[in-house]
Amino acid sequence: MSGNRLVIMGPPGAGKGTQAEFLCRDMNLKHLAPGDMLRKHIAEGTALGAQAKDIMARGELVPDELVVGLIREELSALGAGEGFLLDGFPRNVTQAQALDALLAELNLGLDKVLHLDTDLELIVSRLSDRRTCVKCQRVFNLKTKPHAEDGVCAEKGPCELTQRPDDVPEAVRSRLKVYEEKTAPVLAYYEKTGLLRTVDGAGDVMATAASLKEAVCEA
Ligand code: AMP
Repeated sequence: MSGNRLVIMGPPGAGKGTQAEFLCRDMNLKHLAPGDMLRKHIAEGTALGAQAKDIMARGELVPDELVVGLIREELSALGAGEGFLLDGFPRNVTQAQALDALLAELNLGLDKVLHLDTDLELIVSRLSDRRTCVKCQRVFNLKTKPHAEDGVCAEKGPCELTQRPDDVPEAVRSRLKVYEEKTAPVLAYYEKTGLLRTVDGAGDVMATAASLKEAVCEA
């Protein structure tokens, strides 16, 4: 294995969350996803959640200081040698630079940046069919992963599905625009470092998972 400090990138709906779950389970990595952290803050009604809520619902990026603060806290709390997968961070070049500075402070380096490449049409359909259980937070898809097959929360009864406020068409359009304008340049940033590995995210979920693992393990 060639390293356990990873970033996964890709447009919204590319399947980052699903693939991150596999990678973290298989490689025993800490999953660091600011989107999940922010949704937790919103659910718990914290001040930080209140600051992020409307911005997120519009599909825009929350202020850099806020997410960098969340990531700083998580990275600083890692155990010695503990691996991590950043999922949804960095999302612009300023955040990528902040991450470099933060990792240098902590005497850590990145091993790979995984880019899940997916076409636009597929993204829009994946996002409009995505549903989350309000109780167990598991993510389903009305077409490809219906909850009827596996929709019971541990100890809590049947799943109750909801659509993320930022998965409605207007917010999806805004998130894709943000990705093109702000996040895509981060790919060029990592291309220059030699860390970037691009994997096709349009195919079968398990085939994509295998390609990602291959990319992580290659020298
Ligand atoms: P995600 O769950 O990664 O799709 O993120 C959902 C939303 O959380 C995004 O559309 C942003 O509003 C916010 N968010 C997540 N990560 C970041 C980040 N690195 N920078 C700014 N906003 C973020």
